[in-house]
Amino acid sequence: MTTAEIPKPALWGVGSFRVGDEVRPYPVGQDDHGRDISSSMKAVKSLGIHGESRALVLSMLSEAAQYWPIQIGLLMSQAQFSLADASRFDAFRTAMFLRAMHYDVVLGINTEVLDGLDDLGHAYGDVFGGAPVLAARAGAYERLRDAGLAPRWWLHVGPTIAVECEAVAGAHVDGDEWEVDVANGEVLLTARNPRALSIDRLATGVRGELVTESCACGRTDPRIQPR
Ligand SMILES: [Zn+2]
Repeated sequence: MTTAEIPKPALWGVGSFRVGDEVRPYPVGQDDHGRDISSSMKAVKSLGIHGESRALVLSMLSEAAQYWPIQIGLLMSQAQFSLADASRFDAFRTAMFLRAMHYDVVLGINTEVLDGLDDLGHAYGDVFGGAPVLAARAGAYERLRDAGLAPRWWLHVGPTIAVECEAVAGAHVDGDEWEVDVANGEVLLTARNPRALSIDRLATGVRGELVTESCACGRTDPRIQPR
């Protein structure tokens, strides 16, 4: 059998996403993964990342289905990037990187990392103040904002991530891949293309409003304005 004849496995792997406090494992197909990379490239661009940028990525291995595509998007943009765990224990690494080097973007900031910075007695302004773009998950966004910083939304919505652009007018979902609806204030997510996991009006636990007008940044993808 030649290499060309070896069939590609149908699954890329198993990912996980969160709905409220519940962590749900889900299968990720090879084709899903390829399209998630396309979505990630749009997300990276929405953060203004280009070949001269340096980014710090905060994520967990259990989030590889979301963050490996982000890393590929960063590689394709030719940006430099560093990685730290999005955990309380590893918060010292985030502080160390940001003290040692200038980063244009820190993405994936979560409450666990902020808790870890609290443990270390580091003020958020001292740690993050030098980075022009702070892309923060729900919970962390509010804490950074309350500390006087100006974060952008980096919103986990089921298995995808919505990203706020420089227009700062809600977080973009990749509309080629996902249809977004809101019922009783909760964001519902539907996959436009077949996926290993069928996603049809998934109740994401994310509270927000849907904005469908095209954005000042040029993207026509729907936006979620968290509430
Ligand atoms: Zn935009």
